[in-house]
Amino acid sequence: MNEAILIQKCIQLGAYKAACANVSDITFDPNLRKACEANYCGNYGKNLTCPPAVGTPEELIARAKSYSRILVFQTVTPLEDSFDFEGMNEAKAKHCELSSEIDKLIDVPHLQLAAGGCTVCERCAGFDGEPCRYPDRAVASLEAYCINVSKLAALCGMKYINGVDTVTFFTGYLY
Ligand code: SF4
Repeated sequence: MNEAILIQKCIQLGAYKAACANVSDITFDPNLRKACEANYCGNYGKNLTCPPAVGTPEELIARAKSYSRILVFQTVTPLEDSFDFEGMNEAKAKHCELSSEIDKLIDVPHLQLAAGGCTVCERCAGFDGEPCRYPDRAVASLEAYCINVSKLAALCGMKYINGVDTVTFFTGYLY
């Protein structure tokens, strides 16, 4: 797999920036899961790719560290203002679509980690106490894997926040 070509394709498909880094340089922090436990998004204990169903911090950090490289891309979308929740949701949906497109370009075994809980199904089966409908397609978040995304952004030469009235999302592919 040619990383330079992959980065170029990410940009061509609509990513704002893309870069590759060593997994050994990623900062993992199990304390980040406390933000999930606060459950501001309502997915904690429900979405199957969110804690606690996604796995323990120790399990997921070990899984992430079993890979050697990460491809990261970000999208940056303008909003009407900081209360433009509809714009944020649309930006996230487009980011997830792009994540799926880029996923298909990676021709080696890999693990996609995106932004927030899995959105493959309109309503995650976990909300009804049922098992995952599409285990092969389910995507967990970088944060669920205890990855410090602001430090990941810096590692990849990206800004975590990209200006007033914009929303930035990240996806990583471990391989
Ligand atoms: S694929 Fe569907 S059921 Fe499985 S984790 Fe994602 S949203 Fe939930």
